[in-house]
Amino acid sequence: MNQLANLKIKKNDIVKVMTGKEKGKKGKILMVFPMEKKVIVERLNIVKRHTRPTQQMRQGGIIEKEGKIHISNVMIVCNKCDKTTRVSIKILENGKKIRTCKHCGEMLDRD
Ligand SMILES: [Zn+2]
Repeated sequence: MNQLANLKIKKNDIVKVMTGKEKGKKGKILMVFPMEKKVIVERLNIVKRHTRPTQQMRQGGIIEKEGKIHISNVMIVCNKCDKTTRVSIKILENGKKIRTCKHCGEMLDRD
């Protein structure tokens, strides 16, 4: 079974966070972790990581980084009608599968 196809969510998709501290915010998917069913969304769910002191930075430091969000907590946002949507899969005449918006039928794939 192809996990990636099952997720229906891809890098560069615009998603809205449906729950948690970032609820209601939108962002672009930077990375997908199919096995964990998690994604990283640009500028959302920022977590602070403490880094160890190194030769260059004796104090160590804090870096801010996007934390993973479970895919069940995000929904794709259609770039045409701007609604969150479940993805429907349409098969073109040439056999290619595309993802479309359930509201307006807009293609969600940009490539
Ligand atoms: Zn739409």
